[in-house]
Parts: sequence; C-alpha cells; structure tokens
Amino acid sequence: MNLHEYQSKALLKAEGVNVPLEFMVENAKDAVEYAKIIHKKTERNAWVIKAQVHAGGRGKAGGVKLASTLDEVEKLSEAMLGIKIINNQTGPEGKLVRKLLVTENVFYQGPLPIREIYISILLNRNTGRNVIVYSPEGGMDIEEVSEKYPDKIYTEEIAPGFGLQGYQARRIALNLGLEGSAFKEMISFCQGLYRTYMKNDATLVEINPLVKTSDGHIIAVDAKITIDDNALYRHEKLMAMRDIFEEDPSELEASKYSLNFVKLSGNVGCMVNGAGLAMATMDAIKLSGGQPANFLDVGGGANVERVEAALRIILKDKDVKVVFINIFGGIVRCDRVAQGVVDAYRNLGDIDVPMVVRLQGTNAVEGAGIITNSGLKVHGVTTIREATEKIAELV
Ligand code: GDP
Ligand code: MN
Repeated sequence: MNLHEYQSKALLKAEGVNVPLEFMVENAKDAVEYAKIIHKKTERNAWVIKAQVHAGGRGKAGGVKLASTLDEVEKLSEAMLGIKIINNQTGPEGKLVRKLLVTENVFYQGPLPIREIYISILLNRNTGRNVIVYSPEGGMDIEEVSEKYPDKIYTEEIAPGFGLQGYQARRIALNLGLEGSAFKEMISFCQGLYRTYMKNDATLVEINPLVKTSDGHIIAVDAKITIDDNALYRHEKLMAMRDIFEEDPSELEASKYSLNFVKLSGNVGCMVNGAGLAMATMDAIKLSGGQPANFLDVGGGANVERVEAALRIILKDKDVKVVFINIFGGIVRCDRVAQGVVDAYRNLGDIDVPMVVRLQGTNAVEGAGIITNSGLKVHGVTTIREATEKIAELV
C-alpha cells in the first residue's frame, strides 16, 4: 500500500525526522488559512503548493508550485485541485488531484549553498538485507543519475539483528560531504529513517530531495512510503491511511471479495485458483498468442459469490475477448465451481464474451457435466493445450 507524501512525512516526523511545517488541505480557502499559520511561524512569504497523488515526478508535471503571496496560494491551489497529473508513473489516465499539501518553502538563501540529496531504504532481495541507497545528486532526476553516473550512487547494507550502526550513519554523512550541524543532523536523520522503515513494516521509504538548507539543517522535503500489504493487519493506524481513490477500481472491488487480482492490459481474462496455477495459466495464454488481461487467484473457497464477483470484474474490462477459467479441484470441488460459474453467468445476464473452462481434479466429471448441460456459450476443455488452442482460435 502506498502512502501520500503528507502521510509519509507524518510517520517520519514521529521518528524525529525534520519535515517542513505543512498542512494537507482539500480546498483553496483552507490553503490560505494554513498559509497564514505557516507565515506566523516562519515570518516569510514563501510557500509551496503540492499535489497529493500516489505518483512521483509531480514537479515536472505541474504538481509542485511556489507561492510568494497569499493571493498566489489561493490561485495556485484553486488551479491545482481537479487537474490530472500525467507522467510515466501515473499511466495514460493520469491521477486526479483531490488533496494538496501547503508547506513552508525551505529553500532559503543563506551563507552556504543549498543541497538536494537522494536517500531511500528498501530490501535488497539478493543479499536479504535492508539497504540504504543514497546520492549527493538528489532532486528531480535520480533515475538519470543512476544511469549516467552510477558511481554517484552509494549503498549501505544493514545487518539484520544489528540494525543501522553509528559508524554506518557517519559514513553516509561523510560520503555526502556534510559538515558541522548538517553532519550531526544527518546521523540522527538516518536513524529516524531506519526506525520509520522498521516500525511501520515498510518496503520502501524514499526521500527525494532531502535538503541541506543554507543554514545547515537537514529536512525531508519530499517522502514516499510503501507499506508491506502482508503486514497491514498489525497496523490499524496505517490501514486507516488507505486512499481508495488512488487505487485501481477493479483491484479495489477484488479486495472486497478477498480475490487476489492484478489488472493487466491483455485480451484474455483469467480466473484461476492458486497463484502458481495462475502464473502457469498466464504463460500458457502468452504461448498461445494471447495476452492475459489480469492475474486472478480466486483462492481456496471458490464459492458462487466469489466466482460471480471475479467474473463481473473480469468482464468490466472491455478489452477482454475471451475468458479462461482454469480450476484445479483440490480442496474445492469442481462441481461446486462449475455451479458457481453457471449461476454467476445467469446472474450477470447477457454475456457475449466466450468462455473456455477447464476443470481438473476432485469431481471434474460432475463439473464438466454441469457446464455441458447448462446450455451456456462455454467451451469445456480437458488439457491446457486444448485450452490454449481454443483461446487462440477465439481471440
Ligand atoms: P516530485 O517531483 O513528485 O518528486 O515532488 P518533490 O516534492 O520532490 O518536488 C519536486 C521539486 O520541487 C524538488 O526537487 C524541488 O526542486 C522543488 N521543491 C519541492 N519543495 C520545495 C520547497 O520547499 N522549496 C523550493 N524552492 N523548491 C521545492
Ligand atoms: Mn521528489
């Protein structure tokens, strides 16, 4: 589950990380009210208005604007609410802006140059260790930095059981070329970053940019946190941060029925039980020249309600030209699944997409009988090869 910038920064702040004074708002009037509060505290006429959507690269897509009068705060907020942020991270549909962050502008002029640092923590699956990835070349184009100047990207691997050590945090601060108060603040920042990641069962905490201000402070100006979905059950507070507007509507509906569903862009809808069989099925579809429209694992208890929900979600996708139902009856009996398919088909009314159904395992013969006798536009098959041949013919 991804969090918004404002939520991510609140978690970091709770672990002692410096973040700008900022407020999340949903209308321009509140933006102005909070801008006044920020002014009282900072005594400066310098604010930043930032679109809160689950995507980065907002700066270049019109989602980050500087304001230097309250009038500008109002006008920029009004203009930004309701626009769509469109870039390679949002997909072609873009992300509608419903929330804004009003923050103090922390890039002010002083005796020392301002620095934008990149830093993140995530799991290195190759070594099985958490790793802090960082670079003195932070800001907007970290992907470009990693391609063109890979030596500007540093890593610090953390031994499980020991956690982030003091010498490691100091090495990070040294490699970033920090001195004085910024050096010290960087060390406590690293510890706050690590705690935020561990305590919240995050799979990613990314700060870009982490700013060294002109007066030597270290401030997280942007933040992105991803929480491990499998750990959400033990974080009620984080669960409440879920923003359903940011999620794919069909994936959201699937989660209501505990279906493991991932939308893809192909033309063959898949309904399968078990993740392994689902993946093998997707491979088979590709080999037959089709493209899977989704990954869908209906799970162990494939009852009528879930089969129906799964079919409804698959059929919402107008690119789907054929549905492939591939069920192995182990714990779940094939005749029950077959009945589920038939009932769902009838409940959903006019379905003009052909279906290929393969039922194998417990009560497969009874299952096939139910399908054949239903009089539905369904092609029953026995082997995966037969299935893929039929699918190739239909698409
Ligand atoms: P992203 O583009 O979605 O990653 O959004 P960021 O929060 O990283 O903002 C993009 C860019 O806007 C940053 O790299 C900064 O250059 C700029 N920016 C963000 N916050 C501030 C701020 O407080 N002051 C100034 N002057 N620029 C900012
Ligand atoms: Mn950023």
